[in-house]
Amino acid sequence: MTSQQSGQTRTCLNYINGNWVPAQSREAFESRNPSDWQELVATAPQSDETDVKTAIAAARSAYDSWRLVTAPARADIVHRIGELLLARKEELAQLMSREMGKVLIEARGDVQEGIDCAFYYAGEGRRMFGHTTPSELKNKFAMTLRVPIGVCALITPWNFPVAIPCWKALPAMVCGNTIIFKPAKDVPACATLLTEIFAEAGVPKGVFNLVHGTGKSVGRALTELPGIDLVSFTGSSQTGSEVAAICGRTYKRVSLEMGGKNAQIVMADADLDLALDGALWGAFGTTGQRCTATSRLILHRDIKETFTAKLLAQTQRLRLGAAIDPQTDVGPLVNADQLERVTYYLEVAHQEGVKILTGGKPAKGDGLDHGYFFEPTILDGVDPDMRVAQEEIFGPVVALIEVDSFEAAIAILNNSHYGLSSAIYTQNVNHAFQAMRDIEAGITYINGPTIGAEVHLPFGGVKATGNGHREAGAAALDIFSEWKTVYVDFSGQLQRAQIDNR
Ligand code: ADP
Repeated sequence: MTSQQSGQTRTCLNYINGNWVPAQSREAFESRNPSDWQELVATAPQSDETDVKTAIAAARSAYDSWRLVTAPARADIVHRIGELLLARKEELAQLMSREMGKVLIEARGDVQEGIDCAFYYAGEGRRMFGHTTPSELKNKFAMTLRVPIGVCALITPWNFPVAIPCWKALPAMVCGNTIIFKPAKDVPACATLLTEIFAEAGVPKGVFNLVHGTGKSVGRALTELPGIDLVSFTGSSQTGSEVAAICGRTYKRVSLEMGGKNAQIVMADADLDLALDGALWGAFGTTGQRCTATSRLILHRDIKETFTAKLLAQTQRLRLGAAIDPQTDVGPLVNADQLERVTYYLEVAHQEGVKILTGGKPAKGDGLDHGYFFEPTILDGVDPDMRVAQEEIFGPVVALIEVDSFEAAIAILNNSHYGLSSAIYTQNVNHAFQAMRDIEAGITYINGPTIGAEVHLPFGGVKATGNGHREAGAAALDIFSEWKTVYVDFSGQLQRAQIDNR
């Protein structure tokens, strides 16, 4: 048993080699409800390098047998995970909403993404196609196989506590790897419940291990220590670059999914109400705490005034409140650090001479006093090079930038060292296709908001957003497996490529 519920508070444990265990240090940290920090949601083990070493030993040992289980049999377990996630969707969603402040409807979506992933990768277990191809030599056969990589460390953020771990763990498992999962410190209860489900689905001992703790201690150990073959990281660009540097030094494969400064363009010919719905959902959904959140709105001069007036009116109508309350549109930020960070960026906006149309400060009163609430905020008159237009704020803040042409809109959208998601609202088919070609981002939406990824399509970004990998869909198999090229020579004699056939 992992996490006993005492009242509403869960006592989470690590899960290593099929056993639920405390940290060697016996110390614990707290997870509190960001909508009301008086509520203690969970305590979890404050693990360190010693616990990581135990998990590495378990994962290494389990790898020897797990890699030999057939991919369809591994996929059967992943399918069972999908069934259990489905059965416990509401329980997970409620817990998520309490633990990290995502409004309930979105928390359900987060779990659904995990379910979709499970069923998708369960099918992949019967595909995982390689290639056969002719050899240049006679009586010789050539093919490629996907082989597992080994022990994978999964380091994840708090903003998608079920979806992101599933994106990583499920393809990793189907490919035949074993796993050490280090969730963000803000979501130990979600991570524990997810691990309970994996265990119940029949994941063999040592194949999936959970180690709670900080990035500095557990995360760092996972990148530094030998015995881990791959690190799959989602988080900030700054941490990701540190992770990559260490993995480079310690010869680990590394996939990185990092920040964004995503923009939505609204052209003069756009359906303005549609663009407005997209902007509201993209900017303020998940309280702006998505790596694909819309943080820049690039508005054509001809519609800027009308669009801004509508946006302002709708934004001021958004209801802030406890994430678990079905009436709430915008929940809290996840923790005090995030509140401080968003508040800091509003100071930066002041210094940069930006006009704050609405919001701009932490929200108080009306039952919000014990939560990390921040008013949905619109910044106007933003210059594309300002810090508020360049740096990831990760909160309910959107910057308005005016442009006078399609070309200028694309240039400003691309004026970012990030390149994750992007959107353009236009009825001009030529502009739509030019945007698909010219926007520098991993994901482009035409007449849809910057958020809304589906699990069977590649997810990831260019520039400082990633390091060339794509998660989700079949693309994730390229992260969690390696190609083995096999030649079978049935000629009975030495045949030298490039020599004997020339
Ligand atoms: P966020 O802003 O989402 O918290 P971070 O990049 O700080 O982004 O954290 C993402 C994940 O990386 C978390 O699980 C965190 O604990 C972990 N982490 C933080 N610092 C390090 C580090 N130096 N090495 C490895 N993992 C880390």
